[in-house]
Amino acid sequence: MKNNITIIGSGLTGPLLSTILSKKSNLNINVFERASDPRKINNFSGRSINLALSKRGIDALKFANVYNKKFESLLIPMYGRNIHDINGNATFQAYGNKKEHYINSVSRLAINQTLMDCAEKRGNVHINFDMKCERVDLTTNKLYFKNKIINADSPIIGADGYRSIVSENISELNNTQMEYVNIEHSYKELTIKQKNNEYQLDPNALHIWPRRDMMMIALPNLDKSFTCTLFMRSSGKNSFEEIKNSQKLYDFFEKYFNDAIALISNLEHDFFNNPTGQLIGLRVPKWKYKNKGLVIGDAAHATVPFYGQGMNASFEDCHILGQLLSNKDEYNWEEIFSEFSLNRKKDADSILDLSLDNYKVMRSDVLDKKHIQKQKLSFVLNNDFPNHFIPLYTMVSFTSIPYSTALERGKIQEMILNTLIDMNPDELIDYNKPKAKELIFKHLSKISNE
Ligand code: FAD
Repeated sequence: MKNNITIIGSGLTGPLLSTILSKKSNLNINVFERASDPRKINNFSGRSINLALSKRGIDALKFANVYNKKFESLLIPMYGRNIHDINGNATFQAYGNKKEHYINSVSRLAINQTLMDCAEKRGNVHINFDMKCERVDLTTNKLYFKNKIINADSPIIGADGYRSIVSENISELNNTQMEYVNIEHSYKELTIKQKNNEYQLDPNALHIWPRRDMMMIALPNLDKSFTCTLFMRSSGKNSFEEIKNSQKLYDFFEKYFNDAIALISNLEHDFFNNPTGQLIGLRVPKWKYKNKGLVIGDAAHATVPFYGQGMNASFEDCHILGQLLSNKDEYNWEEIFSEFSLNRKKDADSILDLSLDNYKVMRSDVLDKKHIQKQKLSFVLNNDFPNHFIPLYTMVSFTSIPYSTALERGKIQEMILNTLIDMNPDELIDYNKPKAKELIFKHLSKISNE
């Protein structure tokens, strides 16, 4: 017998989840998306133009049988951070100590289109575009659109992003509150175009202009441009609100991002025409309602973008949910949703905490001698104690170690790094190995780098 599932939202999570669910031939998946089909209009108004894809996302894409040579051709590897200081000097800081330790820049539009194609090709997925669901009632399975009400198939899964109406209904029915985390910083995208058909910066790095209380980053695109994202306060000193005219814009850029002025040829146009985006994290206390509804991806746990993990975490959700269904032909949705959300919630909360912390690392710590020492020492400790000490960035970006474990072990490792560096502050690599061994074996259990 066929089981039907309804998904709200066909952003990044919705189509990947559909593709994974479609592996079960006894499931029919019906998706409702408020936007028009991005494959037809080629004019995408989604958030951030490109994203960093790393291991967790790639593993999920492989599980869905989406990751092939064609998909790989969409990716640009970035092996580390290229730090642009205020005087215009650039230095490179590697992301890891292994050749496979790199993240990938990918266009949001390309990944969105590819995933939709894959989902629809499976035959048991149907995506309905231009269908903005205004309200959902999980007690009756009704979806309310502007001009009609649909009696949807149950369960209904919300993949409808951080302003999720499905999360809203689940929270209402469980008598809980969605918690938005607003960091009072916003972002704006600017473009570094190609010059003479060449990249203007090294395309195999993520570029950062760290300026302590704000920063700009740039990720490469396949057309040899870079998408820059300027992150700073929404209001107050050095804020988007403060820059009201071109004089103020150029004064600001000359002072803080002088070397970027020559790179961003349409600075004034981009700055005053591109929208200012909000940076918002989301914690949703309960992700499910009985056997009737579930939220996944940003609808359950949006994070700020400073670890480049929002999409990766959302894809990992789909992977985990898919694995829970793997050996089943009949589906006890209540049980499956409970198991999924109970295990996953602590990891979602942890990636939000890790991402909030990483904003300071990116905009400020990368400039500090002690941070650079810690980074280098963490690679050395990983080489010397590979089964116990794995650098935090490596755990998050290059392994599938649960985010909550990474957060917990990261704090212990930070203590160990601080202790060792304080014992030998002027040495970069030479460290007190017996002390390191004592601390590592005392505080860190063996862990597999998977
Ligand atoms: P969304 O992408 O928001 O998709 C939700 C979909 O639901 C949309 O298509 C929307 O139109 C649709 N929808 C919403 N409401 C309704 C409704 N009522 N009815 C019908 N349809 C609806 N993540 C990374 O892993 N790496 C990065 O480098 C990275 N960089 C980022 C940079 C920025 C500036 C931002 C803001 C985010 C970044 N992220 C990154 C996070 C990433 O964008 C999100 O985690 C990801 O988009 C979540 O996918 P989603 O499908 O759950 O939500």
